[in-house]
Amino acid sequence: MPVNGLPPYDTTNIFARILKGEIPCRKVLETEHALAFHDIAPQAPTHILIIPKGSYVSASDFSTQASAEEVAGLWRAVAEVAKPLEATGYRIICNMGMDSGQEVPHFHVHVLGGRPLGVMVAKQG
Ligand code: 5GP
Repeated sequence: MPVNGLPPYDTTNIFARILKGEIPCRKVLETEHALAFHDIAPQAPTHILIIPKGSYVSASDFSTQASAEEVAGLWRAVAEVAKPLEATGYRIICNMGMDSGQEVPHFHVHVLGGRPLGVMVAKQG
């Protein structure tokens, strides 16, 4: 049964395997509730992914099912990772479901920066 436009949590997804240590990552930060690491295909000079340690398939799943501690822990980790970019600014992206193009079905936050990032969403056509 799809949950929030996505199938149920798949314990073999790539970020679950990174959390289990089965696949390496370039770690930036690890806290009780979150792990941050460099994106394998960076779209900007800084492109870091922050993921919760719990098994949440999407932004919607995380926001409705995670505990207050997990939610705070994730967003505090995002702020910590983004701190070096504060002077020039940065963009936070959370893709959720089919129309967003979400590829990995484990909730994650992208932090992008290090250059002007252009338009927020590509024009249709
Ligand atoms: P989404 O499109 O789901 O929001 O973003 C998934 C992101 O995960 C993409 O930016 C992609 O480059 C990144 N990614 C996919 N596989 C791996 C991997 O094995 N390691 C790392 N570090 N990033 C990955």
